[in-house]
Amino acid sequence: MPSPAKRSLAIDGSFEAFFTPPPEGTIRLTVGEPDFPTPRAVVERAKQALDAGDTHYVPTAGKRALVEAVAAKLKAENGLDYDPGSITVTVGAKEAILDAALVLLDPGDELLVPAPCWHSYAAIAAIAGARAVPVPVRDGDFHPDTGALQAAATPRAKAILVNSPNNPTGAVYAKAELQAIVDLAADRDLYLISDEIYEHLVYGGRRHYAVASLPGAFERTVTVNGFSKAFAMTGWRMGYAAAPPDLAKLIRRIHMHAVTHPSSFQHDAAVVALTQCRPDVDAMVAEYDRRRRALHEALSKVPGWRCAEPEGAFYAFPDIRGTGLSSQAVYARLLAAGVQVIPGHLFPGGEGFLRVSYAAEMPLLAAAAARIEAAFSP
Ligand code: PLP
Repeated sequence: MPSPAKRSLAIDGSFEAFFTPPPEGTIRLTVGEPDFPTPRAVVERAKQALDAGDTHYVPTAGKRALVEAVAAKLKAENGLDYDPGSITVTVGAKEAILDAALVLLDPGDELLVPAPCWHSYAAIAAIAGARAVPVPVRDGDFHPDTGALQAAATPRAKAILVNSPNNPTGAVYAKAELQAIVDLAADRDLYLISDEIYEHLVYGGRRHYAVASLPGAFERTVTVNGFSKAFAMTGWRMGYAAAPPDLAKLIRRIHMHAVTHPSSFQHDAAVVALTQCRPDVDAMVAEYDRRRRALHEALSKVPGWRCAEPEGAFYAFPDIRGTGLSSQAVYARLLAAGVQVIPGHLFPGGEGFLRVSYAAEMPLLAAAAARIEAAFSP
């Protein structure tokens, strides 16, 4: 028998293999998706589209109205001047990241990623035959460490992936921190992939800055965003990539040959999300913020834990090194106490931490916090 391609064997499967369904009654704070329904107007528009027979191929980059709405959004909210022809609507932000990796990375190239980071980046780099290099962020607040990135930027480095607001740490990078990364990319002639999927989920007066809007960034950046997190549309699988024309053309080709486009009857609904649903997003963000503050306060009291203030997304990322236990051991203790979280070791660079999602209703969070505190009280 021949053997499967080496790149497929390089893809880490530990995340999927780790989770078995927890015992009944366990409070699950593991999910990375909104617990709210998709806004009604979006759902209704998709139903209308189905009834009207909008069930055939559409332009591979996305319906004209949608790419124009994305371009208008990027201009109005992010100060980005993309021609609609440089935008590709993808099957979730995930496809956009994969397309960008396949366009930018050759086998043997390195993709620098401030870490702890989302587990799929390493897998995506591996699919491209490349390697993700986790570069530690600052201990304490999870903000990027430019010196560490500089040191990691060997001649094999081809691109830096920036994810702010961040999964799993919840960090929201300041403008000057992003500019320092852009300057480093310009200095070392690296591309940038900016995953801005959590852009609307920022709290405490913080602001999200689009990497490509910063001086020196546009020509070397692929901007990735989507509908999953802000609009509670994870199951729709709608995202987009925007890039300078030469890169956009290559992204479009990979997209076309891999998936053609996301389902036709979703495109007009996605326009509704972008143009009519800001109030829905604001209401969800206000509720996440309420939960964030309550969870942060509760987790800060757990003996042996330190919890940096979650600044964005919907995750707290407490530091459990003070307990003297591994992430896996803390995970097991919490599971026995009736709470399931994600142990940090499943994220590159995340050993010593836990990811606790607050995409769960307040009473559940309060009950979970009580169980966690009891599990760690002497
Ligand atoms: N980027 C990050 C950091 C994520 O956490 C996720 C989903 O969990 C994605 C991208 C994927 O988003 P989508 O559902 O649009 O593919």
